[in-house]
Parts: sequence; C-alpha cells; structure tokens
Amino acid sequence: MLSTMQDVPLTVTRILQHGMTIHGKSQITTWTGEAEPQRRTFAEAGRRATQLANALRDELGIDGDQRVATLMWNNAEHVEAYFAIPSMGAVLHTLNLRLPAEQLVWIVNHAADRVVIVNGSLLPLLAPLLPHLPTIEHIVVSGPGDRSLIADAEAQVHEYEELIAGRPTTYDWPELDERSAAAMCYTSGTTGDPKGVVYSHRSIYLHSMQVNMSESMGLTDKDTTLVVVPQFHVNAWGLPHATFMTGINMLMPDRFLQPAPLAEMIERERPEHAAAVPTIWQGLLAEVTANPRDLSSMQQVTIGGAACPPSLMEAYDKLGVRLFHAWGMTETSPLGTMAHPPAGLTTEEEWPYRLTQGRFPAGVEARLVGPGGEHLPWDGESAGELEVRGTWIAGAYYGGAGGENFRPEDKFSEDGWLKTGDVGVISRDGYLTLTDRAKDVIKSGGEWISSVELENALMAHPEVAEAAVVAVPDEKWGERPLATVVLKEGSTADYETLRTFLGEKIAKWQLPERWAVVPAVPKTSVGKFDKKVIRRQYADGELDVTEL
Ligand code: ADP
Repeated sequence: MLSTMQDVPLTVTRILQHGMTIHGKSQITTWTGEAEPQRRTFAEAGRRATQLANALRDELGIDGDQRVATLMWNNAEHVEAYFAIPSMGAVLHTLNLRLPAEQLVWIVNHAADRVVIVNGSLLPLLAPLLPHLPTIEHIVVSGPGDRSLIADAEAQVHEYEELIAGRPTTYDWPELDERSAAAMCYTSGTTGDPKGVVYSHRSIYLHSMQVNMSESMGLTDKDTTLVVVPQFHVNAWGLPHATFMTGINMLMPDRFLQPAPLAEMIERERPEHAAAVPTIWQGLLAEVTANPRDLSSMQQVTIGGAACPPSLMEAYDKLGVRLFHAWGMTETSPLGTMAHPPAGLTTEEEWPYRLTQGRFPAGVEARLVGPGGEHLPWDGESAGELEVRGTWIAGAYYGGAGGENFRPEDKFSEDGWLKTGDVGVISRDGYLTLTDRAKDVIKSGGEWISSVELENALMAHPEVAEAAVVAVPDEKWGERPLATVVLKEGSTADYETLRTFLGEKIAKWQLPERWAVVPAVPKTSVGKFDKKVIRRQYADGELDVTEL
C-alpha cells in the first residue's frame, strides 16, 4: 500500500527560504579584527545569496551542475555561497586551504571547478596555483587582500560586492531532485590521492535536522554558536545549514583563529554553543590560563574530529564550560555520534559516559567487525572496526568528470556499509568508545595497544602539554609504542618520571620504552596529530630517541 503523504524534495533551497524568512532576524557576526565585527541578518544574507545566484547564472554562465569552489574562511559571504550555489542546482566545492598545494591543484582539477570564490586574504595561496588550474574560468574575490597578485590570471577576475550589487533579489529556484549533488568535500587524504565525498540535498537536509536535535547539538534561536570548525572541512560540521533551520545566531571567526582573538570573541559575544577540534580547545585553554577570560557562556561545546583527552574536559569543567564529545568523518557528513549521558545519573556517574565518543542517532546504524570479518557483540569489550550506514553516510567516492563513482574495498563492505577505519567497542547501552585508528593501533606480540589511551594518560600529567604515541618496528614484538612528548615551559620532568606516572594507569607491558621530547606534535591540514609524519621522522632518525 502506498502512503497518502506528499513527496516534497528535501533541499538546501528549502533551508535557505526557511532561514531568511522565519529566522530573518537572526544574525551572522563575522570577526574583522577591527573595533566592530560585521553583522548581517539571515534575511540580508539570504537576499545576497539570491543575488549571488543571479550573478553566477547571468554573468558567469553557471546553468547546471557545474562546480563552484570556495577558498574562504568562516564568514557571512561563505554562508551566502553555501546557499546560493546548491540552491541554483550547481555544486559547492569547499577547498581546504590547509591542504598541500599539489593536493589543492589535484582536487580542483578532479572536480573540474569552473569558478572559485576566494577571500582576498587567501590570494597569496591561490595565485601560484592558478597556472595549474585550467578549468577555472572566473575568480570572484571577497574581502581585503592584495588583488595585484592575480593581475596576470587567465581567468576573469570579479569583485564579489560589485558582482552581486544591483542583481535581482528573487530567483526562480529550480525543482531539484533531492538525491542530486549539492556540495562536495575531499577527504584530507592521509594516504593516496584525496577522495571526493558528494553530499546530496537530501543528506544535508536530514543531517541538519539531526544536528539541531537535543540529543546532538541542541541548537535554538535563543542562542549563538561560535563556528570555529572550518566551512572548508565537512561543511563546518553542518552548522551553516543547521543554523538556517533553527535560527541560532552564528559567530564566525574568519581568519582570526588564534587563541587570543577566540578568547576575546567568546568574552564579548558570549556564545552558548561552539564547535571545534581538540587542538583549538587546547590552545584556548593555554591562553586563558595565562590571560584569564570569561568563557562561561559556553554551556554546550561540541568537540570532535579527534579524541578529546579527559584532562581537557576536566579543565574546561573547572572553567564552567561544558564539552560534549562527538565522532564523525568527512564520509559521515560528519555527525556520527555524540556523548550525552543517559538520563537520571549523578555527575559522577555521568563522567565515564562523557568520555566516550557517544551514542548513534536513529539515522546512523552501526556494527563492529572483527579481524576475521565476524560481527562482534555490543558488550563493551569486543573491539572491532566500526562500520556504519545511513542516509547521510557516503556510499561511494566521486569518480570525476565522465568517471564512475567508486567503492574501494578497504572503505566499503560488500553489502555497502562504510568501513570507518576506526577501532573500538560499543557498550550494551550503545555508547561507542574508540580505542584507535586501525592504522595507528600498536600491534605488540599479538596484542593491541591503544595509542590513544597512552596519549590521554600522558596528557593528564601536569607538565605535559601534548603527547602523541605511534607504533615503531620492534624486532622482538613486531611493534612497540614510541612516546613523543611536548613539555610545558619550565618543566623538569624526565622520562622515568613520565613512565612511572603512566604505570599508575596503564598495564606494564604496554608502557613505551622509546621516548622523545619534541617541540610540537606535527598536525594534519585540519589540526589532528599527523602520526604518519612522526613515523617517518622516526624512520629517518630525525627524533632524539631515548630508550629506557
Ligand atoms: P581525515 O582522516 O582525512 O582527517 P576526517 O576529517 O573525516 O578525515 O576524520 C575522520 C576521523 O577522525 C575519524 O575516522 C576518526 O578516526 C577521527 N575522529 C573524529 N572524531 C573523533 C573522536 N571524537 N574521537 C576519536 N577520533 C575521532
């Protein structure tokens, strides 16, 4: 029997129309580094997005599913692009400005981007790439920056403000198939070429609803969210779309991502919600420890993208700031889990739940798969690779113009589930605890040692600023852990002390015998520990390793 319900497509266009009317008064505040930030209502941003769509069509010739790229910070203009491009049926391609130059060139060419909208401050990054980007026909520049850098560009150069000025504020938005492409983001590719994940209108719509739910980020129009997580990385965790659905105000840091301006923004604008990776919160903590600031407005901070060290959560608890741990990846839009403890617990009982990666929402199904391909029970003990499926989970990667989308065997199971590459356990009540990346887990004499567990235990030491643990080859055991440690200024802790400290929490056979103090832990383009680099530094003898 067929249902009797209407079949209305779930589109980004609908989110735009809703946000600019029902929540027209909500604001996007963009940091400028000047005395006053730039403030723009959703109604105004929506009107400007409509003008941008008109300009893209009438002036730049975008009339189908061509790719329009953005090389931008988090700001109001980037939000306008987020809505204009998909709503007119084109595909938004957000470029990760921290990718190495060769990878940026590779993804622009792979996606065959026709237009790039770029922040003036990022022209020094774009200019040298342009000779290698033959598909780019138009460059649209927004905000301050030295235009002379692209004076010789073959592509036509436009000023964002001039381009949209005076254009119609209405657009006959096309009826789109909700399954068609709306936006794309390439994985930050730790190995091999980056892989393109293409989000549909439908996946973005459903994901945004989940982001807003109280069991996820719980956003409402009474609050403000500080969107630190970049718009060039997994759609800023879905926040620009989610905010237009519920009307929560957006606070955008633009290029002012250093701890001091972030602290100032928080103190002045008092956001209730914020979202960023642990490295950002580590940096901010160091800043406010040195120069105290009031961060107490932040009652629901989403922290994810890498494991949240318990010591970090504890430190923020003391500042009256509550962190909520979430897990996800580019392929999962990214919301996969979020750690809200079950109801009816004391603060003390809640603690272990808060440290987990969290629970899966109804839209995400999960299973654990053991080394032999067997499905493992949710008993809190059986560790396996996490596989997921759902309406906002990728089922393939983009094959490029004329190419077929593809499903690498190491990324998708035969029955179509996404293999996350994350290893962990799931408790009886459905809480996920990740113990490692499949490629980072240390395989010592047939047993697994979790690099993350060692790192967390080390970072709980008061003199340790950061610690990364990687597997290194060992004649006897196959692999053993190498601990690289960043010490806080003035620390006198030696390796023996640190090892003894670790021994209080970690089984003896898991304790690292190889140690190195490093000035900083190398980070990936999105601020996560880059263990590939540490392994290479070790192999090349670049680290000053002490063996205990
Ligand atoms: P990349 O691996 O290219 O950086 P993503 O940015 O999509 O790609 O990162 C996804 C990965 O980040 C996950 O598979 C997982 O390993 C890690 N990750 C994300 N959130 C968490 C978390 N809360 N705890 C531990 N690891 C996490």
